[in-house]
Amino acid sequence: MKTESGAQSSYRIFVDQVKASQVQQVTLQSGRIDYVLKPEFGGQHYYANFVGSTENLTRLLQTHNVEFTALNGGADTASGLLGLLLSTGLLVGAFAWLMKLSSAGGGIGVGMGMGKSNARVYDEKKSRITFADVAGVDEAKQELQEVVDFLKNGEKYRRIGAKIPKGVLLVGPPGTGKTLLAKAVAGEAGVPFLSMSGSEFVELYVGVGASRVRDLFNRAKRQAPCIVFIDELDAIGKTRGGGVPNGGNDEREQTLNQLLTEMDGFDGNEGVILIAATNRPETLDAALRRPGRFDRQVLVDRPDKSGRLEILQVHARPVTLGEDVSLETIAAQTFGFAGADLANLVNEAALMAARNNRQAVLMADFKEAIERVVAGLEKRSRVLTPIERQTVAYHEVGHALVGALMPGGSKVSKISIVPRGLGALGYTLQMPETDRYLLMEDELRGQLATLLGGRSAEETVFGKVSTGASDDIQKATELAERAITQYGMSSTLGPVAFEKNSAQFLEGGSTRRSISPEVAVEIDRQVKQSIEKAHDMALAILRLNRDLLESATQRLLQTEGLEGDELQAILDQVKAPIEMKEWLAKG
Ligand code: ADP
Ligand code: MG
Ligand code: ZN
Repeated sequence: MKTESGAQSSYRIFVDQVKASQVQQVTLQSGRIDYVLKPEFGGQHYYANFVGSTENLTRLLQTHNVEFTALNGGADTASGLLGLLLSTGLLVGAFAWLMKLSSAGGGIGVGMGMGKSNARVYDEKKSRITFADVAGVDEAKQELQEVVDFLKNGEKYRRIGAKIPKGVLLVGPPGTGKTLLAKAVAGEAGVPFLSMSGSEFVELYVGVGASRVRDLFNRAKRQAPCIVFIDELDAIGKTRGGGVPNGGNDEREQTLNQLLTEMDGFDGNEGVILIAATNRPETLDAALRRPGRFDRQVLVDRPDKSGRLEILQVHARPVTLGEDVSLETIAAQTFGFAGADLANLVNEAALMAARNNRQAVLMADFKEAIERVVAGLEKRSRVLTPIERQTVAYHEVGHALVGALMPGGSKVSKISIVPRGLGALGYTLQMPETDRYLLMEDELRGQLATLLGGRSAEETVFGKVSTGASDDIQKATELAERAITQYGMSSTLGPVAFEKNSAQFLEGGSTRRSISPEVAVEIDRQVKQSIEKAHDMALAILRLNRDLLESATQRLLQTEGLEGDELQAILDQVKAPIEMKEWLAKG
């Protein structure tokens, strides 16, 4: 037990940590406590000054089962013999611990194995998974097809001087096939697949995570072209610097920093492409998304009805299906299921049939399996009731109809009511998706009205709003406030920026310049006013197009998604209220 390293803590924090069963072992010497946290709490080493009685301390540690050593010169000189005995026991314990560690690391000798990456290497023969095994996520596949081409024909890109992207981040709800897709990319390109899960890093001891990352990348460079896959990136990629004393995980930060360093240290042209997956992109450290790191994000979403059918077909391939089984019907009944749920469903049904000694799986087996899986899903994630589904559909169509009349980038290109794992229940995709930096005043108004279109549709149909519109309101408020405080679009306040531009790049924190209370009141009044006006306009549009709102919503409920020509035909029918033109121009 070395005592020179370790970060400073305090006796009070130490006691709290002991009581919370976070402490692994303690050494007391010369009025100083040195202690190590359990690996699951980060495994760090700390020290604290100690002036109390050893007896009380011993009792505390005994009740919480903490390994304890008092070395000569403890606060009131505990028996030297006892101390010696305890530390001998500790040595044996430590040795056993090292042995365990090294065997977990793949049987490499003690002392050598500590930092060796235990990335599993799948070579070309082992990763036989191809895009044919992944269904219902065509957009993601298309984007990844490009990565396959980089890996297969890297020379073509290098010759012409193109820069191959380094990192692709797969984002989507659990069970949608992110891991499967990463393997399929390796399978399609016929390159080695080195994979590691973010959660494996978190339980490591100080310094090990970082050295594993280093090792992983060294291996990858030797095997190029290849894919490095980091699953559950959020486990290491969380925003750094929480500032919680002793509560933070230095190990995780070190690991993340090492990952960033490694990413900066190679370029895609070397033939190594990093793919990572997460279902919590919002928690990722901003540094990870900077250009030159994960410069591509691919959304892997829950499948719609036809996607579910394809996935069912993939998983039903090896299964003997009865005559009465209609996968179409099953796809229609499994709204909200992710790929993993569907795979599970097929297997449950097959198990049921086998249990009943049948030769083939019948529709009745699927029915029962659906009920089982749904019951599980209800606990795990939200499954929408029919009323909720309807509300979501009206809401999304509302956005689309209002957006159809607005100038600039408000036009909707896709509506879906398939729940997205990341909070939203349905979504409307606006073109162009990229951020616009220059918005005209009428475009700003148009965006406000479009944002409020969802809520307005709910009001028009049900006379009340659900909680689902809160994100829109938040966005509308921010937009309206920015219009006034940053872009100077206020008639009475004039073209004065009340917000420091640089503050856009800082997260959190107050961003307003110091302004007088009168001006603050005026800003709030104008924000409220422009939102109200946009809201009135959205309502007017939807009332005028009430029939269209109805028919489009019914269609959406049937198909779960509207896009392309069909959506365009609906949007072309939207009529504009007479007062709209003036409002767009003058507010
Ligand atoms: P994620 O990594 O997104 O949580 P996985 O890739 O681990 O999901 O999916 C778990 C399993 O579910 C896969 O091994 C596969 O059997 C099935 N699965 C998930 N998505 C799909 C899909 N799009 N097509 C076919 N099978 C899928
Ligand atoms: Mg996964
Ligand atoms: Zn909305």
